[in-house]
Amino acid sequence: MSAGPSSSGFLESSRRGVADADLRRKLENATGRHLEHVAATRAEFPAFDSERDAARRIKEDAIGRLDELLVELKNKLEANGATVFVAADAGEARDYIVNVVKRAGAKQVVKGKSMTTEEIELNPALERAGVEVVETDLGEYIVQLRGERPSHIITPAIHLSKEDIGRLFADKLGIPYTAEPETLTDAARKRLREIFLSAGVGVTGVNFAIAETGTLALIENEGNGRLSSTLPDTFIAVMGIEKVIPKLSDLPHFLEILARTGTGQKLTTYVNFISGPRGRHDADGPRAMHVVILDNGRSAMLADPVLREALYCLRCGACLNVCPVYRRIGGHAYNSTYPGPIGSIVSPNLFGSAAAELPFASTLCGACRDICPVRIDIPRILLHLRWRESVAQPAIKWPKAAVKARASVVRFARMARFPRTLRLLTRLAAPVLRPFARDGYMRRMPGVAGNWTRWGRDFPALRARRKTRQKPAEHS
Ligand code: SF4
Repeated sequence: MSAGPSSSGFLESSRRGVADADLRRKLENATGRHLEHVAATRAEFPAFDSERDAARRIKEDAIGRLDELLVELKNKLEANGATVFVAADAGEARDYIVNVVKRAGAKQVVKGKSMTTEEIELNPALERAGVEVVETDLGEYIVQLRGERPSHIITPAIHLSKEDIGRLFADKLGIPYTAEPETLTDAARKRLREIFLSAGVGVTGVNFAIAETGTLALIENEGNGRLSSTLPDTFIAVMGIEKVIPKLSDLPHFLEILARTGTGQKLTTYVNFISGPRGRHDADGPRAMHVVILDNGRSAMLADPVLREALYCLRCGACLNVCPVYRRIGGHAYNSTYPGPIGSIVSPNLFGSAAAELPFASTLCGACRDICPVRIDIPRILLHLRWRESVAQPAIKWPKAAVKARASVVRFARMARFPRTLRLLTRLAAPVLRPFARDGYMRRMPGVAGNWTRWGRDFPALRARRKTRQKPAEHS
């Protein structure tokens, strides 16, 4: 597995994704359910939009004075007893963590959910050093058992049904096949509890790092983040530089919007606060705590006045659920740790030219901007990246399919300038296409038009006759 996009290319993998009807059904079900929950929790919270504005203002301020806040955070964490390492890139972060694990003499590491450790490809590095890594978030555990990377930022196994997971657990954990979610969760919990007790090091990500107090906030639903950060003797937290916020009193604004948008909950089950290792009078907690603060291309994003807005991202995952492209192809098609609309922005900046085509993987419909809890203008940033890529490579070699699609759109645009001709052609085509229509829509179209419906899109049935305009009612 590689965290960065592979050379196989987005077009090829997206074609595979879109041709998989079973995958599309699972994605539609899961993302559809998510959007229903989000709409319901948002509707019952009238202050949602004002909280979004407050959170965005805090992010604007924090990203605007990141250097100052990071120094404050580092000083506070160190005063609390933690060791802080600032990593310029993925390699530095990996080496540091592997060394800490080796020095701790640990043979087993438990991991809470962390996209940043996916980004730096930590698991393969630890495994090369002879350390067993166990993902403890249920979704992450499932994809680890399958040898895959997560296909969603917060729902790593969104591409799998409960039947898929039942078969996986029967095969890998040796339990009798069942598709009963409670039994499956119970089997994973039992397996993971034993590992929590024996692992020497715990690693987690960070949702927010509060500069004022040197406190890390970990937001989760399963309690595995709490166990990973408190049971092992050594705890390592890995965060991007953009996770810092100024004050403890800023946090509630984010808590009000994060779960409501991310999972459709009012609040997640656990909000953990970690300010340092176990103190002299504490009964539990890690004896050593390390915080790795990662740059890895984020400073370059900060320096770009359009791109810097992407650093406001809370990794709630909502823009993936609402994106018509993601919902058709799934996360693996992006060949990147970060899929979906926000992934199409950050991946080219974190992983370089191999992800250069991702900003083109969008319809620019704006649904991502509308749902984003901190109102990131994703379409604008995607256009900026497309422009940047076009300037960098003026002789882009477009794939044949894209050239054909463009030619069709140009032909249609020309024709649309002559409404009478368009109406005539529609009238002639309507009887030919009538056998393909059901309930007012065509699910399959013949000839070149079939390119439209081949990938699960329907098309409104054409009407042969103009609707006769109703005469206005005469009043006496
Ligand atoms: S860009 Fe916005 S919607 Fe997408 S993951 Fe980030 S915070 Fe969530």
